Amino acid sequence: MRPDYQRLASRIEGRVTLGAMMKQYTTWKIGGPADCLAEPASADDVAAILAFAKEEGVPVFVFGNGSNLLVKDGGIEGIAIRVGDRLSRRSYRRREDGSTVLTAESGLILSKMARETAKKGLRGLEWAVGIPASLGGAATMNAGAYGHCFYESLIGAEVVTCDGDIRRLGKGELTYSYRHTALMDLGAIVTEVELLLRDGDREELIGSVEKTMALRREKQPLELPSAGSVFKNPEGSHAGYLVEQTGLRGRRVGNARVSEKHGNFILNLGGASAEDVLRLIDVVRFEVKKAQGYDLEPEVRVVGRDKAPED
Ligand SMILES: Cc1cc2nc3c(=O)[nH]c(=O)nc-3n(C[C@H](O)[C@H](O)[C@H](O)COP(=O)(O)OP(=O)(O)OC[C@H]3O[C@@H](n4cnc5c(N)ncnc54)[C@H](O)[C@@H]3O)c2cc1C
Repeated sequence: MRPDYQRLASRIEGRVTLGAMMKQYTTWKIGGPADCLAEPASADDVAAILAFAKEEGVPVFVFGNGSNLLVKDGGIEGIAIRVGDRLSRRSYRRREDGSTVLTAESGLILSKMARETAKKGLRGLEWAVGIPASLGGAATMNAGAYGHCFYESLIGAEVVTCDGDIRRLGKGELTYSYRHTALMDLGAIVTEVELLLRDGDREELIGSVEKTMALRREKQPLELPSAGSVFKNPEGSHAGYLVEQTGLRGRRVGNARVSEKHGNFILNLGGASAEDVLRLIDVVRFEVKKAQGYDLEPEVRVVGRDKAPED
């Protein structure tokens, strides 16, 4: 029997939408319908959604800004929990040692916070401008760029565990490595992060943000939908370089194409399906292995169900 999702809507302050197309919520603009899309407005909402899912025996999938996701064309079974703009409050607290603690809900966008903190003359996130991650996604994946990573500033996080308990984790519990964190292993939903920022020169920080953004515009194809880097950099090399050396720039399957500008980006030329992208990923992996001997491992998360043949 189909779960009574209206009952969920009455239990949370946030929003519940049935059959929402996930392509509206991913930067690739790809993804079929979620049976139920729930957008919590608090950690209590998240706990209530998890409790409802348990009662009804439906699976849950959590995501943030969908900037590292390939959602398959059949969409998401059960409840897709979007930690998004309904969880976007933040506050700044000055400490006696002159540093500042930013307490920010997970739905805020990292790139926007990089700009906001630079404008306040606070150092720590300026390298992250241009990364369209939610803070929850950045904390879970340990987003990074230009020799920096999110965990350099992270000092604490509020999470909702799979059992629905709301917990605060301190620095010691937040272990991490390249694109991997203890939060992934825990399978918890991050609802808030605490970041430590230092005083800096406002003009210098704003300049650094603008320089980083200019570098991204120069190197990355930002004019068409993508999920950033598709493959992890293998030990000792760069995925984009390997793809380019294999002559795969511009390779196309359906409406998905390897960028001419950056070999590790796959672009949605308009109306690409997840199937197009998955087939192109296979082509790239096969050709790179054959020509360069490297096994490329996807950095993007592939989730959801295949489209039924009769659809
Ligand atoms: C143009 C572009 C440039 C990019 N540049 C970079 C870059 O320089 N460096 C980099 O690291 N990444 C980059 N990315 C990729 C992406 O922004 C990061 O991987 C980011 O960390 C994903 O965050 P998200 O909120 O979009 O997560 P989503 O894509 O929504 O989800 C990613 C994973 O995190 C989990 N997750 C998300 N939110 C939560 C939460 N609140 N609690 C628990 N789990 C959660 C999801 O279950 C999923 O497994 C780029 C992407 C684009 C499109």
